Amino acid sequence: MINKRTGLYIHIPFCMKKCDYCDFLSFPATEQVRNQYVKQLITELQVRSAGLKDCLIDTVFLGGGTPSVLEGKQIAEIMNTVQKYFSVDKEPEITMEMNPGTVNYEKLCSYKASGINRVSFGVQSMDNMELKLLGRIHSVEEFQENYQAARKAGFSNINIDLMSALPNQTLKDVQKNVMKAVMLAPEHFSCYGLIIEESTPFYQKYEQQELRRQAGEERPEDALPTEQLEREMYQWIGAFLAEQGYIQYEISNYAKRGMECKHNLKYWERKEYLGVGLGAASFLGDIRSSNVRSIEDYLQTDIRVEAELLTEEKEVIDEASAMAEFMFLGLRKILGISKTEFYESFGQDYMQVYGTVHEKMVKQGLLEEKGDRVYLSKQGIDVSNYVMGEFL
Ligand code: SF4
Repeated sequence: MINKRTGLYIHIPFCMKKCDYCDFLSFPATEQVRNQYVKQLITELQVRSAGLKDCLIDTVFLGGGTPSVLEGKQIAEIMNTVQKYFSVDKEPEITMEMNPGTVNYEKLCSYKASGINRVSFGVQSMDNMELKLLGRIHSVEEFQENYQAARKAGFSNINIDLMSALPNQTLKDVQKNVMKAVMLAPEHFSCYGLIIEESTPFYQKYEQQELRRQAGEERPEDALPTEQLEREMYQWIGAFLAEQGYIQYEISNYAKRGMECKHNLKYWERKEYLGVGLGAASFLGDIRSSNVRSIEDYLQTDIRVEAELLTEEKEVIDEASAMAEFMFLGLRKILGISKTEFYESFGQDYMQVYGTVHEKMVKQGLLEEKGDRVYLSKQGIDVSNYVMGEFL
């Protein structure tokens, strides 16, 4: 019997080429590997569905990587398996991440016919020089063409991913980017500041420069923006998108009314989801787990009897950790957390558990409270990692 709603995440790790700043689990692969992967993914979906007979899948998210490197036929096979083996809601949100330069009108039409009803375009910048610097494979013009093709194919729910705080970027550059993207009138924006991760070519280049800058040497030509400039970019984006009718509902996410990403909200609200595919994470019951990250291991494991063989990490979340998660994930939402929901989830009073931290953060002007809700102040958003760290 169905008694809960669950999300489904499907990871497609393939990309045409690795971008210079990327540390996601993604890489280029041959057609043969891609075919083998889809086959194994379908088996994993079939086997894992057995454990979710009491769940109604109301959101599906195909993320990557670049899911749109797969052909329409392959996405159809994956989605048919989902429909056949899981109980899927009548009106599910089904998102697919796509990168410009990997789709065309025909491909978009076949994705649509498979049930995909939300597109997330990883654009990152509306400036060709910046795209080149990031190591992206596409131009702004290609993206604009793909976007119009998606509209023509019937997609009425589109997200655009943009990035700020790029090397040498000025506030004016960010303004031009966002204004150009807004002209396309997507339903949703995700705007993240670039984070330089170790093990990426960007780390080698920019982290060294940053260290020299901090040591008092001259600011190099293509240095990263200062923290102050990064903050100005962030605040301008929020104010401009608000003027354009986009409601900020999470630290980095903005949507037209009612067009928030339901799947991502599940992550911030500690709702359950099953992750399928290479390295995919799941949160079911009180267990967080994730799949193997080696493509060889993923493809070679015989999972027809036991999908658990794919699980690499597994952790039971105890109550103290669950409460901390409730806080640091919930505070990412602009509406913050509900004290009533905290009580309903844990049978304990929010102030009794977190009263000391709460008072301290309120006193510092980083946390605010209105009725049942506790949320980050404007100032708190700027130092959100610090505030969330206090709840850990
Ligand atoms: S397209 Fe996305 S996932 Fe692929 S390498 Fe670039 S940033 Fe990473």
